[in-house]
Amino acid sequence: MFIDSARIHIKAGKGGNGAVAFHREKYLPSGGPDGGDGGRGGNVVFVVDDNLSTLMDFRYKKKYAAGNGEDGAGKRCSGRKGEDLIIRVPRGTLIKSAENGYIIKDISSDEPYILAKGGKGGWGNQHFATPTRQTPRFAKAGLPGEEFDIQLELKLLADVGLVGFPNVGKSTLLSMISAARPKIANYHFTTLVPNLGVVYMGEGSSFVAADIPGIIEGASEGAGLGFEFLRHIDRCRLLIHVVDVSGSEDRDPVEDFEKVLAELENYSTLASRPQIVAANKCDIAEDKFEELKKAAEARGYTGMKISAATGEGVDALKSEVWKELSALPPMTVYEPEDIPVELPGDASKEDFTVSRRDNGDFVVEGAWLEHLINSTNFSDYESLSHMQTIMRKAGVFDRLEADGVHEGDIVAIYDLEFEYIK
Ligand code: GDP
Ligand code: MG
Repeated sequence: MFIDSARIHIKAGKGGNGAVAFHREKYLPSGGPDGGDGGRGGNVVFVVDDNLSTLMDFRYKKKYAAGNGEDGAGKRCSGRKGEDLIIRVPRGTLIKSAENGYIIKDISSDEPYILAKGGKGGWGNQHFATPTRQTPRFAKAGLPGEEFDIQLELKLLADVGLVGFPNVGKSTLLSMISAARPKIANYHFTTLVPNLGVVYMGEGSSFVAADIPGIIEGASEGAGLGFEFLRHIDRCRLLIHVVDVSGSEDRDPVEDFEKVLAELENYSTLASRPQIVAANKCDIAEDKFEELKKAAEARGYTGMKISAATGEGVDALKSEVWKELSALPPMTVYEPEDIPVELPGDASKEDFTVSRRDNGDFVVEGAWLEHLINSTNFSDYESLSHMQTIMRKAGVFDRLEADGVHEGDIVAIYDLEFEYIK
């Protein structure tokens, strides 16, 4: 079965806790603190696996968690790092936020992508000894790992998409120009899964073509098979619009052509894609070809006569495709979308106060700010900039400015104290 979307939950590992321990040796009754640090939690990492072509594996297993870091131990022993969880997906898988549908990452290159970072391990008490505090009886707990609900969506990586009515010969054409062996049969909707084929044009030159289940009238409104598959050719740079020009099914080629165009128009992103119109089955009859070619040219497309069965005209079609592709921009890689930052709870500009200490320091207070500061990992750049973004959106900096803050003034927000920089 072909599964091209799935919702899953992923969770990075928790950091191990730091240890509270004291050095012990025979005849040495009270040594210094030597509790080791907790290990970092494992990350959740996505990688491309070209042996996969569907998201089927995600249909049954919905929860994915990386390993937790181990706790630290005495004798300054650090806990072992949690094991990373590697999730393999087909090339071209989009990771979206399940909450709001925003694109987080397009997994289409070979570079591994860390989606959820493991929590930092807590420091053991070895770090907390000071001249005045020689026996620290505390250590830090490990931080939780990141976790998300995500939606995976497969958008195949194909340069060329084959579109057209069912039974016009799309699968036959794909098998003719590539090593792909899609199912071919003389009835509608034989193609139930998108097929990809690599078309070699000569040394080091190739393009990828995708055959998707036929588009039928009304498919763009979800009336039948086709619509859900259209998104697989979203990335295509060029469409080969296959039309049965022989009238073998008592249909009019020009009418078919226009109907499919109307379907693509309803699915707006594809309508503007460049097209080559391939008038297929001309081994049976080709008297309607000129008429179809005119209709194609009226729209600015090239019309070509082929027979996917005998191979006639197929090489010329390949060359034309190659020529047009060379002039087109590269395939779309979806950029991550900026997820609008939400304030925790129903925090708003009014939910905090700014006051001054006697020495002139600024003090900012508010329940959500305390929560924000506590959940920020100050050694992590992203976590810090997230915190700043939220404070900026809530108007904290605006308010400080309005209250006359100057460069270099001290601003205190719970555990956080910093010098104000404009
Ligand atoms: P698809 O639904 O568009 O993928 O169409 P298929 O490739 O499955 O082909 C449908 C039928 O048309 C099959 O029986 C093919 O053998 C036949 N067919 C495909 N191309 C040609 C052609 O160029 N000439 C002839 N005579 N038959 C063809
Ligand atoms: Mg087919």
